[in-house]
Amino acid sequence: MEDTKLKCKLCGRFFDDEEMSEEHYPARSVGNEDIVALNIVKMLDSFQSEEIRERIKTKLSDGESIERISGDIFDNELAESLYPHGRTARTLCRKCNTFLGKYDEAYLKFFSLDGEAKAIKGFSKKTKLHIVKSIFGKFISIPEATDEEFDFLEFLKNEMATEYHGKWKIYFVKRDFSSDLMGMKDIGTGKIEFDEGIVYELSDDKFIYNLMNFEKHACFEMTNLFDILKKDYILVKGVGSDGGYHSQILLTRLFSEMI
Ligand SMILES: [Zn+2]
Repeated sequence: MEDTKLKCKLCGRFFDDEEMSEEHYPARSVGNEDIVALNIVKMLDSFQSEEIRERIKTKLSDGESIERISGDIFDNELAESLYPHGRTARTLCRKCNTFLGKYDEAYLKFFSLDGEAKAIKGFSKKTKLHIVKSIFGKFISIPEATDEEFDFLEFLKNEMATEYHGKWKIYFVKRDFSSDLMGMKDIGTGKIEFDEGIVYELSDDKFIYNLMNFEKHACFEMTNLFDILKKDYILVKGVGSDGGYHSQILLTRLFSEMI
């Protein structure tokens, strides 16, 4: 029954379904308790809805902030539970999942300090490398990358490895209002292809990460994940007025939902 076996994305060995671990992504361990998908089609409809526009105007004149109003609309009308049991994937064996969990502990520190340069600079090199490996590790499980053979598995498997010279790069931004349409966070994964190569996306409550196999377009301002190891690490906030890869991936998802 070889064909019913699942391949672990990290160690490459085959396991029965029940031997695989059920991961949550973005990991629940980093605070994403309430994972929702933005219903993009409904969102566009509501932008054109006279009723919603009137409601927003009334609330604005009552002194509510636009962030608060859009947040309420998002929570009450646009958010949908993506999967009833949260987003899970069976892409890792239990041993590899436990192993990568060590890196997630470092990521949790980064996450809870909002990635702020001042705080992160004080972390040990080991912790910083674990943060980097945690994010690379998340990408091996995203559904869009099922058929991808990543060249950074050895870097992940070796806890002591300090360098990775493969073809993949990760750039990220801290979310702000410009990265969240009207303040509504879209937590999701995605993929977009350019002539230069592929861009995968993974985001959580605070950050948007793009894994890509080419140098990012100079016009998109993002932080290289490996920069957190450097003294001059600068955290980029928001995706800028052009929306970066994030908005393009959102639009791609919109079109695929409309078909
Ligand atoms: Zn494994």
